[in-house]
Amino acid sequence: MAEELTKEGFPSEAVRTHPLRVLLLGGTAEATELARMLSLTAGISVISSLAGRLSHPQLPDGMVRVGGFGGASGLEAYLRGERIDVVVDATHPYAAKISSNAALACRSLSVPLIALERPQWEAQVGDCWRVMPNMGAAAMEVNREGGRVFLSVGRQELDAFCGSQKVWFLVRAIDAPSAKLPADTVVILKRGPFELENELQMLRENSINLIVSKNSGGAATYAKIEAARMLRIPVVMIARPFKHSGRTVSRPCDVLQELALIGE
Ligand code: NAP
Repeated sequence: MAEELTKEGFPSEAVRTHPLRVLLLGGTAEATELARMLSLTAGISVISSLAGRLSHPQLPDGMVRVGGFGGASGLEAYLRGERIDVVVDATHPYAAKISSNAALACRSLSVPLIALERPQWEAQVGDCWRVMPNMGAAAMEVNREGGRVFLSVGRQELDAFCGSQKVWFLVRAIDAPSAKLPADTVVILKRGPFELENELQMLRENSINLIVSKNSGGAATYAKIEAARMLRIPVVMIARPFKHSGRTVSRPCDVLQELALIGE
């Protein structure tokens, strides 16, 4: 007998005994977009998970849970308790801990794991990038260069720059940093996306001579990289950490295709 499928390609609920239960590890624009797509897809039940770092997070469509699971074992217990069929890891490219926990928990329970990771930026002609393996190495490069530095690395690892001497920092973050800050620091609170014209103005007005950035990828925060190229400002680019070696796709619509295969 031919299998009965929904228009999205999932076995219909007449065939499956329950919708495919998906845990979506989020905290990114792509995760929010994917949550919207999945919540409109028949045959899928999605729970988005946020770490709970932001005071006013943009909540995704559908069910949402907030807060850590308690390491890989806590996540494993959650997957078992909620009868999760598939985990989608759509966390930020620099959120390495939750991704390695997801890989461990999924492997232990034989639950499929799909990673959604936006492609990283590639240096263009005119870019002057100094690629560093981690935040500590970036801080050493900042010390070597000195001057007026735009720190665009979020707010969690700013203490790496506290030892810097004779450096003035401009920090931009969504929420006020709670960690220790370098002595001579000005903080701007702003949420992206950011426009090229504004980035050019901000870099010029503050006489920035060096930028520190993660290679986040995507369009929302790319304008500072373009502005740096135009103003010939060097960028200390922190390389992406290793997350896991699981199946990785780069667009939310690719996840839908992967889920359709699992749902068959
Ligand atoms: P991380 O270092 O990989 O994770 C630290 C701990 O936070 C994890 O062990 C886990 O706690 C909890 N956690 C992280 N993401 C979670 C999620 N989606 N749902 C539930 N618990 C989560 O992560 P991070 O770099 O602190 O990032 C935290 C969140 O912010 C992530 O969801 C990420 O997508 C988002 N984000 C991060 C960055 C960045 O630059 N790192 C930038 C933008 C957005 P337990 O061990 O207790 O489960």
